[in-house]
Amino acid sequence: MNGSELLAMQARRSPDQEAIVSNGNRVTYEEWDVKVNQLANGLASLGVGVGDKVILHMPNTEEFLYSYFAVQRLDAVIVPINAKLVYDEILYIVEHSDAKAFLTHELLFPQVAPLADSNLVCLKTGGADDGWRSMEALIKASPNTPRTSTTKEDDEVALLYTSGTTGKPKGVLFTNRNIQTVATMMAIEMKMEPGSRVLHMMPLSHSAPLHLFMMSTTYVGATHILAPTFTPDLLLNLVSKEHVTHFFGAPVAYLLTAKHPNVKEYDLSSMQYWVYGGAPLGTEEVKFLKEQFQTDRLMCVYGLTEAGPNGTLLLPEEHDLKAGSIGRRPALNSEIDLVDENGQPAPPGEVGEIVLRGEGVMKGYYKDPEKTHEVFRNGWLYTGDVGKRDEEGFFWVIDRKKDMIISGGVNIFPKEVEEVLQTHPSVAEVAVVGIPHPDWGETVKAFVVPQKGETSSEELSSFLKGKVADYKIPRVYDFLEALPRNATGKLLKHQLRQSEVVKEV
Ligand code: ATP
Repeated sequence: MNGSELLAMQARRSPDQEAIVSNGNRVTYEEWDVKVNQLANGLASLGVGVGDKVILHMPNTEEFLYSYFAVQRLDAVIVPINAKLVYDEILYIVEHSDAKAFLTHELLFPQVAPLADSNLVCLKTGGADDGWRSMEALIKASPNTPRTSTTKEDDEVALLYTSGTTGKPKGVLFTNRNIQTVATMMAIEMKMEPGSRVLHMMPLSHSAPLHLFMMSTTYVGATHILAPTFTPDLLLNLVSKEHVTHFFGAPVAYLLTAKHPNVKEYDLSSMQYWVYGGAPLGTEEVKFLKEQFQTDRLMCVYGLTEAGPNGTLLLPEEHDLKAGSIGRRPALNSEIDLVDENGQPAPPGEVGEIVLRGEGVMKGYYKDPEKTHEVFRNGWLYTGDVGKRDEEGFFWVIDRKKDMIISGGVNIFPKEVEEVLQTHPSVAEVAVVGIPHPDWGETVKAFVVPQKGETSSEELSSFLKGKVADYKIPRVYDFLEALPRNATGKLLKHQLRQSEVVKEV
C-alpha cells in the first residue's frame, strides 16, 4: 500500500471533510480522490506506468497534491523538484533521474517550455501550449475509474534531490515504508488529528514539508492549507483566518515574521506547534519569537533528506534551557548516536559525527552505490554533521563535516566564528570558509554582508580577538552585497569556495 491508497481510504472514510484550502478554493477528500483517479488514468493513457520517474515542478498548489498522488497511484516514482531551480539545474535532474514525464505549473512554464523538444511527456496546468498538454483538459477527458496501486512496502516510490549545498544535488530514493514511517511518526509527535489545519508554506518539494507535514496531514485526514510562497503578511493572515494548528518553516521565516510591525494584532491562538528545522534558533531568538507570537509551542526538528528527514526533536518545554540544541530525544522510530572516527560512541563533551537509523532512512542514492556505501556503516546513516552531546544528553550540531576548515593540522568550525561575527552591529550576514593556503593547507576567510555603515577587516578581526582563539580569526575578508543561497534559502558555501579558486587562478 502506498500514500495514494491511504488517500483513497480517507476519501471513503470522510468524503466531505475539507482536504485542501488553496487560493480561496476548498476541496473535499472525495473531490481530491476523484481528481487523482482521473489524472492517473490520463497519465496512463499517455504511456506513464510502473516505475517511471515523473518530475513534479510546481509551487504549493492543489495541482501539486493531485499530481503527487496520481503518480503514486500509477506505481510510478514521483520526483518533486524545487520551483525556484534554474533551467540548467532542472536539466541536470531530468537527465540524472531518467525522467519519463514532466509536470509543471503555468506560472513556471515559460522557463521549462523548451523541454517539449525532448522525449518527455510534458504536462502543464492551464491551457495547452506548443508540445505541452493541458493538465485540466487531461483530467476532464479521463474517466474516474478507480485505480489501485500494487506497490509493496519496500518498493521505491519517491526520488528527492538534496538541495546541493555541499555539491551537486544527490538523488535520494525512498520506499513506501520510509515515507509511511516518517509521516505516521510525525502525525503522532505533532498530535495531529482530523481537525488539524496544517499550513504548507515551505516548498513541498523538500523532504521536511513533504514527508513530515504533507504526508502526515493526509494520513490523519486533516486539512491542508496551501500557500505558494512565503511572506510574513501571508503567514500571519492565513494562521489567523484559517485557524492553522501546525506550521513548519525555516528559522529565517520565523524571524522575518516576528519582526512584522503588527504581529501582535493577529490572533495566533489556534497554533499548537510552531515547528522549525534546517538550522537552529538561539536563546535570544527563541525569547523574541515567544514574545512576538505569544506562544510557548516552539518545536525544533533535526534531520536531513537522507533520513526521511526523521531525526530528533527539541520539545517546546526544552527551549528555555537548551535553545540551539537539536534535543536529546530522537523522533519516534529514529535512533541517534554520536561516534568518533572509529565508529565508537563519543563521550559527553567530545566532538563526533552524528549518526541516525530507523525505518525512515532512505534506501540509497539513485545510481550511486559508492556514495550509498560511504554513508551507511553498520546499519547507521552517517549524517556528515559534526556534533556534541552534553552532560544532560542533549545533542548540538557544530557544523557540517564538509565545511570544517583544517588549518595547520588544526580543525576549525566556521559556525563558531560566524556566530561571533554575526553579533557585530555592522554585520548583516556572514559566511566563513576555508581557502587554500600553500603552508597551512587552508586558511580562514570570511565573506561579510555589511549593514548600517562601514566596517573593515581590521575592525572585525579586533572584534573577534579574545572571543575566539587567534588561529580561528579570518586572515582574509571579502565584502559582498548578498551571499549565494539556493532555492530554499540555504547558504551555498561550495560556491564561495569555488569563487575563491577561480580568483586565485
Ligand atoms: P545537500 O545535502 O545537498 O548539501 P541540504 O543541505 O539542503 O543539501 P538537507 O537534507 O536539507 O540537505 O539539510 C540537512 C542538514 O541541515 C543537516 O545535515 C544539518 O546540517 C542541517 N540541519 C537540519 N536541521 C537542523 C537543526 N534543527 N539544527 C541545526 N542544523 C540542522
